[in-house]
Amino acid sequence: MQATVASTTLTGVEAAPVEVQADVSTGLPVFGIVGLPDTAVQEARDRVRASLRAAGFDFPNARVIVNLAPAPLRKHGTGFDLPIALAILCATGQIPAGALQDVTAVGELGLDGSVRQVPGMIAHALSASREDRDLLGPSDASGLLGVVPGLRFRAISSIASVRAGLPQYRSACISAPTSDRVHQVDLSDISGHASAKRALEIAAAGGHHVLLIGPPGSGKTMLARAMCSILPGLTDTERLETALVHSVAGLDTSAVLEGQRPFRAPHHSCSTAGLVGGGSPPRPGEISLAHNGVLFLDELPEFGPASLQALRQPLEEGVVTLVRAFGTVRYPARVTVIAAMNPCPCGYSGDPVRPCTCTAGAVSRYTGRIGGPLYDRMDVCIRVDRVDPGAILDGTATGEESTVARDRVIAARQTADVCHRGALRSMLTPGARGLLEAAARTMNLSGRAVTRVVRVGRTIASLDSASSIEESHVSEALGLRSWEPS
Ligand SMILES: [Zn+2]
Repeated sequence: MQATVASTTLTGVEAAPVEVQADVSTGLPVFGIVGLPDTAVQEARDRVRASLRAAGFDFPNARVIVNLAPAPLRKHGTGFDLPIALAILCATGQIPAGALQDVTAVGELGLDGSVRQVPGMIAHALSASREDRDLLGPSDASGLLGVVPGLRFRAISSIASVRAGLPQYRSACISAPTSDRVHQVDLSDISGHASAKRALEIAAAGGHHVLLIGPPGSGKTMLARAMCSILPGLTDTERLETALVHSVAGLDTSAVLEGQRPFRAPHHSCSTAGLVGGGSPPRPGEISLAHNGVLFLDELPEFGPASLQALRQPLEEGVVTLVRAFGTVRYPARVTVIAAMNPCPCGYSGDPVRPCTCTAGAVSRYTGRIGGPLYDRMDVCIRVDRVDPGAILDGTATGEESTVARDRVIAARQTADVCHRGALRSMLTPGARGLLEAAARTMNLSGRAVTRVVRVGRTIASLDSASSIEESHVSEALGLRSWEPS
């Protein structure tokens, strides 16, 4: 007897349909799985056999061959346990043939017959929904599958329950995004740093990458952490995209499903694969886990040259492309980068109190490590100095709360959408243009640097609800380019 059950396997953040075919025939008792399975799929044999027996079904004392089609596609993970078990039950007549016709089944089996989640449940659900099929999957996934539009979900907690027929539909639901989101750091938690906070607000409004330069202990990390609190909450589409990546990586998706933008802060010793994705089976890297959120790169020059090089393409294209022997894998990677660094190896170059002990050569070697092309992507570069302790003790150095700044960011983004649709250069007023030309000569700005100043100037204009870029906007934008690597 033969039976077929539909399932899916992950390729990047997508799940591709796979047919699980079981053939049970008389002969020496064997249980084989063919069709390019990885080790985890091969181990399904033990889990399927044990769970069927635990659930009170018969495991056939016969020749059992399971084929996963299409054969050229590599099959990953433990999600094939459930469809393999169901195909065997169908092929041996223990559940009615045809019961699984419109169903895509994904789930890992415990030895006791329980059905468990696997990484990428959202991707599997999207694939089932695209094929207009019901998803039969673990009950505890219903909390995250509400994010998938139009999904018909049949929840199953134990393989034993299919004896009484397939489970009924369960409405997968998630909590609505909360408006008063709790962030780790609020702007009002940070004393002083008025100009740095303003720079973050500009970056948030325009989606610019930021480079913070300052001595150790000046509060660069706190400022980076506060960035998420002034960005607007995730839209429904962004929520789905980001939850999808986190689900594929096997991470908790609850914060993302509540609308929080991800904040990822990989250590500089992180491998290139850890940063941009890789491995076998491929896994998304930190830059993709930060998709639609903030990627914080502290101690930027300490990252390996290969890692910094690997960041360039995803920052340009918003997507990571990994070429593998069995095909190309893509992960989304649209992020706001906040990078931080000391101004020199000792950290105190330009500090008003502590003297710098570095030679000029050591400083230029240090800052040279980040490289021109990456530096060119940092639209906003500012110096962050330590806050005067007196001001902290007086309590005069705290500022407004993040929600106030976030409202301005949201309004600026709306202004940009409505008013700033024309060519960038045509938005400059004659006065602003004259100022920029003069500054470009005296500051010796490159063509690319001039474009960046205009781009940031446009964002500042949008914060000002202005439809053209005026002198004051250019002058503030020039101030956000006050540091150049030597
Ligand atoms: Zn120094």
